[in-house]
Amino acid sequence: MSALALRTRLVSGLVFPVQERVKGHSTVAIRREMERTQWWSTDRLEALRIERLRALLVDIGIHVPYYRDLFARIGFDPAAIRAITDLHALPLLDKATIRAHTDALKSDRGAKLARFNTGGSSGEPLVFFIGNERVSHDVAAKWRATRWWDVDIGDPEIVVWGSPIELNAQDRVRAMRDAVFRTELLPAFEMSAAKLDDFVARIRARRPRMLFGYPSSISMIARHAVDRGIRLDDLGIRVAFVTAERLYDEQRALIASTFGCRVANGYGGRDAGFLAHECPDGGMHITAEDVILEIVDPEGRIQPPGVSGEIVVTHLATRDFPFVRYRTGDVGVLGAEPCICGRGLPLLDRVEGRTTDFVVAQDGTVMHGLALIYVIRDLPGIAAFKVVQESLTLTRVLLVQGPGFDPASRVVIRDGLRARLGEGVEIEVRMVDSIAPEKSGKHRYIVSHVGVAGSRTEARTDA
Ligand SMILES: [Zn+2]
Repeated sequence: MSALALRTRLVSGLVFPVQERVKGHSTVAIRREMERTQWWSTDRLEALRIERLRALLVDIGIHVPYYRDLFARIGFDPAAIRAITDLHALPLLDKATIRAHTDALKSDRGAKLARFNTGGSSGEPLVFFIGNERVSHDVAAKWRATRWWDVDIGDPEIVVWGSPIELNAQDRVRAMRDAVFRTELLPAFEMSAAKLDDFVARIRARRPRMLFGYPSSISMIARHAVDRGIRLDDLGIRVAFVTAERLYDEQRALIASTFGCRVANGYGGRDAGFLAHECPDGGMHITAEDVILEIVDPEGRIQPPGVSGEIVVTHLATRDFPFVRYRTGDVGVLGAEPCICGRGLPLLDRVEGRTTDFVVAQDGTVMHGLALIYVIRDLPGIAAFKVVQESLTLTRVLLVQGPGFDPASRVVIRDGLRARLGEGVEIEVRMVDSIAPEKSGKHRYIVSHVGVAGSRTEARTDA
């Protein structure tokens, strides 16, 4: 075994486990158990989930005031749970309900809770709490998925991230931790040419085994290296883990060819948990031991596998602050077939984006923002762009000009967008020097303020 591999084994097998134990997390035991259960049959996994669901609901029916009241009001008996579908008797939980009942959603056991705050797609902050049990399960699930790719905690890693939460934690303790775990953070807020030069140089110097970050940011670095004629496919990078945004096919292709690695897509959030991750055979496996995913239409009706709708999550390790039938605001499709890798964990066929990634034509037709993105992205000399649907009658397009830009493209864009949104729609094309990322550091090509399912999500506060 090489010194490097030995070091990874030391960190993964000793340093990280000790750190987790000190924090009161049982991550290691949970990960080991999950590496066993991932091979279970669908039926056996189902039985495990029903048992865990019943235990969660019985517990929160006693210890969480919000659910104690709710169960009494609607006459729900959690001990009688015999099937996952028994969940349907409970209302969906949206962000407005969490905001209105934050204290009543805390368990009366007084467990130690960490407070979190996310921007959310509509920019409204959501404050929620996470207990130790939940943290252990989410970290273990992420760890398991990492190991599917023949890399492990402790392997050299480059993280391209913009979350203010991560950056605030970038204090001395965090710096020391990063040194031990050999993680280097490249902040994704500012992606100027000078910064990108620096990022490319730092990746070459670090020779990471894995990359982790937003697909938009990692592809921007890849694009920059290609433009500069700098190779990054000779560093021994095995895999790029991408998450938190929709992964477009051309981003996957660009990242794979530039870094000479596989691309593994992950789906989850601080609020909803570690929900699904791609395996080397291409299946997006749901963390089925810990989460139940349902797909619902705008009226809240359950949709079968293969049909698109909003993703609703029940996280089974959330006794301290329950997420039961939580509306994520993401749109996705459940898979119908098992994965060829042999894992029994069911599949999420795809995540299509946030509900705000969908635009509405003047005649009411709802379409994915991709319909507009296709018009713009293949035009020559466009370095970056963003489409903002302000209203049914006004859509703004921001363009950053690159070499070879053809001024006639502005007309092509105007006509192309009108053809899709309606002839009466005003299309304002504006040339800008740069496009700032969202507050979270994420880049979004399309934002709709018309709010398709999104507005309905927010309106159903009394569900
Ligand atoms: Zn698989």
